[in-house]
Amino acid sequence: MSVLAVVPIGPSDEEVLAAVEGVVASAFGRETARLAPIPEPAGAFDAARGQWSAPEMLKALLAARPPEADRVLGVTGRDLFVPVLSFVFGQAQMGGPTAVISLARISQAFSGLPEDRPLLLARARKEAVHELGHTFGLVHCPDPACPMSLSTGVVQVDRKGESLCASCAALVKERIPAAGPPEGRTG
Ligand SMILES: [Zn+2]
Ligand SMILES: [Zn+2]
Repeated sequence: MSVLAVVPIGPSDEEVLAAVEGVVASAFGRETARLAPIPEPAGAFDAARGQWSAPEMLKALLAARPPEADRVLGVTGRDLFVPVLSFVFGQAQMGGPTAVISLARISQAFSGLPEDRPLLLARARKEAVHELGHTFGLVHCPDPACPMSLSTGVVQVDRKGESLCASCAALVKERIPAAGPPEGRTG
């Protein structure tokens, strides 16, 4: 039975991890397993940008993936970037197995506002579903209420819901075989 592993990268936030585990278990119909925190990969820090490389985070997650986990979701408090973008809320390998979300910019403190835990948890849940959705092959969804819609800022994150739209949910169902041993299928 394959599980979806949730891994803190560096310091962990128990409330966020628990929230994320709950939502992804239901969105993807999969058991979750919590892994011990892994250290922040030192090579991921870009001093010139003051940010952390999302692809380097994914590499560290891949190295930490236990054999029983076919998906690994990392959770970091660091601000992430990919070379072509000024920042990302998260990053995933299309088709799996690794994904990462950052709490940095979905925290109100990033905008100089008082912290709002329920809002942070809601945003983290949406971004977790979004990035893991990519690992199951989902692309960006045109429905702004679907967590698979593209967010370039927290406004869009707040506008979307936590549940996959009917068409994204149907695609996930197609891609996650029902429980039970695979029979004579390859590839
Ligand atoms: Zn995306
Ligand atoms: Zn959708």
